[in-house]
Amino acid sequence: MTARIIDGKTIAHEVRAEWKERADALKARGVTPGLAVIIVGEDPASKVYVANKVKACAELGLHSEHVVLSADTSEAMLLSKIAQLNADPKIHGILVQLPVPKHIDSEKVLNAIDPNKDVDGFHPMNVGALATGNMRFAPCTPYGSMKLLEKAGVPIEGKHAVVIGRSNIVGKPMALMLLQANATVTICTSKTVDLPKYTRDADILVVATGKAKMITGDMIKPGAAVIDVGINRMENGKLCGDVDFDSAKEVAGWITPVPGGVGPMTITMLVANTVQSAERTAGSK
Ligand code: NDP
Repeated sequence: MTARIIDGKTIAHEVRAEWKERADALKARGVTPGLAVIIVGEDPASKVYVANKVKACAELGLHSEHVVLSADTSEAMLLSKIAQLNADPKIHGILVQLPVPKHIDSEKVLNAIDPNKDVDGFHPMNVGALATGNMRFAPCTPYGSMKLLEKAGVPIEGKHAVVIGRSNIVGKPMALMLLQANATVTICTSKTVDLPKYTRDADILVVATGKAKMITGDMIKPGAAVIDVGINRMENGKLCGDVDFDSAKEVAGWITPVPGGVGPMTITMLVANTVQSAERTAGSK
C-alpha cells in the first residue's frame, strides 16, 4: 500500500480561505480581528515563527501588532504589557511566543492573558474547557491536526487513536480532541513499555515526541492514518518528522509529510482562533 499524502499546504490554503470569508464578514460590520504577538528576546527560531504569524494575519487582512521586548525585560513589565493588550478593544487574540527568558515565569505569563483572548488555548480556563468538552480556544497544533484528519476524510468515531507524547501544547490536547470526536484514545510516553504494541493497534497514530524518525513502517497498522507533528533538523540541514516517512508511507493509509503537513496548519488555526474570538466579541456567534 502507498499512503495518501495529507497535503498540509493545500489544506491550510483552503482553511484560510474559509476564515478569510468570516473575517471579511466581520470587517463589513466594522470589526477587524486583531492579534498581538509578543516576543521577548532574540531567539532566531522564535523570530521566524513570529514573522510567519504576522504575515498570515496580513494575508487575511487582520490587524496585527508585533510587540518586541528585549531579553532583559522584567516579568512585571511583560505582565503590564499583557494587561494593556487585555484592555485594548482592537486586540482579540494575544500570544506570547515561548520560550520566554529564564528569569520570567512562563506559567504566570500565560495565566495573565485574558482567557477570552487566549488564542493559543494555554490558559488553565481554556484547558479546563477543552477537558470538559466545552472547547473555546483549541491549542493550534492539535486543532490543525484534527482539521487535517477531517479534510482528508479519515474516520475518527469508534477508531483507536494512539497519541505519542503528553506535552501540554500537543499530546494532551490532541488526545482530548480525539476523545471529543469519539475515538478510543491511548496516550503513550517515554515511559511506555512496548511502544510498538500500541502503535501497531492504532487506526490513527499521532506522533509528537521530537525524536527524529522514531516510528518506522513496521510499527504501523496497515491502512492507518499517521499524523507526524515532529519537526527535527537533520545533520544535512533538512527537516524531518518523528516518523520515518519512506517506510511509513508503504504501510499507512494516510500520512502527513514533514515539512508541509501539520506545520502550515498551526498558524492557520491561530488566525482562525483570532477571527473566532472577534466574532464572539462582536456577538455574531
Ligand atoms: P515535548 O518535548 O514537550 O514532549 C515530547 C513528548 O514525547 C513527551 O511527552 C515525551 O514523554 C514523549 N516522548 C519522547 N521520547 C519518547 C519515546 N521514545 N517514546 C514515547 N514517547 C516519547 O515536545 P512537544 O510536544 O512540544 O513537541 C513534540 C514535537 O512536535 C517536536 O518535534 C516539536 O518541534 C514539534 N512541534 C511541532 C509543531 C508544529 O507546528 N508542527 C508545534 C509544536 C511542536 P515524557 O513525557 O515521558 O517525557
